Order: sequence, then C-alpha cells, then structure tokens
Amino acid sequence: MPDLADGIARFQQDVFPAKAELFAHLAAHHTPHTLFIGCSDARVVPELITQGEPGELFVIRTAGNLVPAYTPGANGVTASIEYAVTVLGVTDIVVCGHSACGAMTALAEGHDLGGAPVVADWLRHADAAVARTSGMAAGPEKVGALVRQNVYAQLTNLATHPSVARALAEKKVTLHGWVFDIATGRVEALGLTGAGAAALAS
Ligand SMILES: [Zn+2]
Repeated sequence: MPDLADGIARFQQDVFPAKAELFAHLAAHHTPHTLFIGCSDARVVPELITQGEPGELFVIRTAGNLVPAYTPGANGVTASIEYAVTVLGVTDIVVCGHSACGAMTALAEGHDLGGAPVVADWLRHADAAVARTSGMAAGPEKVGALVRQNVYAQLTNLATHPSVARALAEKKVTLHGWVFDIATGRVEALGLTGAGAAALAS
C-alpha cells in the first residue's frame, strides 16, 4: 500500500499536534453544519475544496454524486441523509458534481457498461438528467451539461427524502448545487431559480 503509512506517520507527527485542541473538542462533539454529497472520484476532496476543519462536513460520496429518490427501507445513503438532517441538524446540504466525471461521461457518451452491470443500474438514478440532455450531440459540452443537470436531478431526489422534506418545510435547511472544475479549482454555485427551482418544486 503506497505512502499511506507514511502519511499517517506525518499526520501524527506534524498535523495532529497543531490541531490537538480541536480534536480534543471533537472527541466529545459532533456538530457538522453541512451535509456534503459529492462524487467518490478521488480528485474531488470536500475538505480540501472548502478548506473546512475536521468536524464541519458530514460527507456522503457516491459514484456520480447520485442520491436515489426516497424509497421505504434501509440503505446507506438514506440512513446517512436522515442522520445528518434529523439527528445532527445540519443547516445546509450541498450536492457537488464535477468536471470529467466518469459516471456522467459514460452516460453522455453512451459507454458500454456491460462489464459493470451494478454501475449501469446505479446510474439509472441519473435518468432525468440524461433525458434533459438527450437532444445534445456527444462531446465535452454534453458532459458538462449533464454534470449540471445531474446536480439538479439529485437535489430533486434529495428533496423526496422525508427528513429533508420536513426540514425544508420548516425552513431548517438550505439546499445548494455546486460544480467543481478539476482543471481550474473553481467551484460554480448553480442557481436554484428558474429551471432548477422548478425541478426542485416538482
Ligand atoms: Zn464523478
């Protein structure tokens, strides 16, 4: 396993001592302000992008930053959302897409996912976003459009979860859609007005 043991040693020797007071506090307190839902992609690191401290973000990362719409029954994503919103009381939820997303590229370019059938099934949670971009010619613009539409679609899915629906009705939580550009480091905040708001209201 390359470098990980060295990294842990550096953390314990250099990083942890500088934050010892923070970690002493965190040992008995877990009060993140934001639920961050991002892609599992190794290049999209929530704490690095936001420069947050440990304890600030409650993070769910899935392939394609997909959030399945609510269905009764337990699964990891639903349980994590419910815990963050209902138990931890986060005030903000970010769904963050990103450039060069493998999941969105596969969908935009119609890749054969026959060798990864579970991935293919999982990506069906982006069907609405795929439908909204189906009229575009294949290419980088289509991938970019799909990344954005997918953020809107997953925010819509997120709002079907009862814990989120309740928090939205009580105005206890605010939803945000972001797109991270790997090449420039920019984070674009998507407007949740117009088409985005309509999608969320539907
Ligand atoms: Zn991705």
